[in-house]
Amino acid sequence: MSSEEILKEIAAAVSTCTLCDLCKTRTKAVPGEGNPHAKIMFIGEGPGYHEDKQGRPFVGPAGQFLDELLASINLKRADVFITNVVKCRPPENRDPLPVEIETCHPYLEQQIAAIKPKVIVTLGRHSMAQFFGSEKISAIHGRARKINGYLCIAMYHPAAGLHQASLKDTIRADFKKIPTIIAEAERLEAEGKMKAEPPKPKEEPPEQLSLF
Ligand code: URA
Repeated sequence: MSSEEILKEIAAAVSTCTLCDLCKTRTKAVPGEGNPHAKIMFIGEGPGYHEDKQGRPFVGPAGQFLDELLASINLKRADVFITNVVKCRPPENRDPLPVEIETCHPYLEQQIAAIKPKVIVTLGRHSMAQFFGSEKISAIHGRARKINGYLCIAMYHPAAGLHQASLKDTIRADFKKIPTIIAEAERLEAEGKMKAEPPKPKEEPPEQLSLF
């Protein structure tokens, strides 16, 4: 199956998904959208009010800022793929619960596997935690790290820039690094250095010496 077909199947499954309670309060599920062959994928937290109404990611005020950020590096939505950690709106925009993130995770994994982007940008805390564990955004934002065969960069959520003016410039500066990071990912891949590291073998317990 092509990436397009796989993404369509995932979107269809997401639109009718009832695996967690968010399906009870959503208007429309938001599977994500964009280029099935995107070099770069943006992963936000979860749909808000506007996204829930339209079934599309980042279409509210944070989305307008994201569009501006993309334009600043000569990218359009059609060049990238945009999705979220959870595909349905948490009521009142509360944080997604761990069980909701976990239940929705296979959809995200399948989208990443279908697109095979060079670079993954996490937008916000919950998205960052999927790739960078419990690290602090203030310490790691804007710096690329190789994780599971992808160059991943954590960035502040665009909505944070709308609420805190000082972060707006930080986000703009981090976005400006993206073209260089994509080029770096392509160079590493050409040199065969982007493959996922095999998991480290577990240390065997010391062998028991047989007494007989
Ligand atoms: N915030 C997100 O994290 N995702 C969206 O789709 C919209 C706002």
